[in-house]
Amino acid sequence: MPELPEVETIKRGLKTKLVGQKIISVDVRVPKLFVGFPEMIEGQKIIDIDRRAKILIWKLEKNYLAFHLKMTGQLIYAPNKNRNWVVGGHPDKAYVAELPHKHSHIIFQLENGTLYFNDLRKFGWIKVLKDDAEMEPLVADLGPEYDWPEYTLDYLQQKLARRGGVTIKQALLDQSLVAGVGNIYADEALFLSKVHPKRKVSSLTGAEIAALYQNIPKVFETSLNHGGTSSQHYRKHDGSKGNYLNFANVYKREGRPCKTCGTPIERIKIASRSSHFCPQCQK
Ligand SMILES: [Zn+2]
Repeated sequence: MPELPEVETIKRGLKTKLVGQKIISVDVRVPKLFVGFPEMIEGQKIIDIDRRAKILIWKLEKNYLAFHLKMTGQLIYAPNKNRNWVVGGHPDKAYVAELPHKHSHIIFQLENGTLYFNDLRKFGWIKVLKDDAEMEPLVADLGPEYDWPEYTLDYLQQKLARRGGVTIKQALLDQSLVAGVGNIYADEALFLSKVHPKRKVSSLTGAEIAALYQNIPKVFETSLNHGGTSSQHYRKHDGSKGNYLNFANVYKREGRPCKTCGTPIERIKIASRSSHFCPQCQK
């Protein structure tokens, strides 16, 4: 599932390509994935593209368009001038060779290109929002972004103090704590903080919480620098893959040696989610 760095990477890519373009038409091939009607956005210019947690938000002239990629959603942009290259399939870009394909469920025709919303599992969605009031329910329960002034050590300590009974892994996945932290970055932040994912929040020391406070932004920034993960379904706006998993310490590395101590990385289930950790480094 794309997490914060992946959605942010897509946002940055789309922002440079799409802002200022007019939406000519929208082809909704799977209606359940599109809440609203194409007529509500056709003819409007894209003013800005923003992100809140894992939600992408397009500001249009009269309203908003919100996107959630969920498990396997992709937003891939093919500029008109590269149309043949994309549709014909450059040998190095074979994964975007046949757009649109059977998983291209919503297709935006823009002034200078085409944007494909592909979604193998069909859990993603696109919603037309009339105004800020309609946006509110989508973002009401989200905690601060890691780079907001509201995200402070004091904030993290106070929020965690109210969740003493759950494991730290579960607490990190709760979107009301820090927005956008998912399985990959929770595991990676716990490794850097030397905290075992199964620890009860109430058992964490001040120093461990301080370490987590520092390491959550650190894993996000590292991933952003590498264009997000190299997970199976994640693609950047141009169809290419991210590179972050080559730099991950524990995620998807079960059985392989810890980069710090050489002990094989282990994987366990916590609240039905996989957790990857080093049994030697994380206590
Ligand atoms: Zn280790």
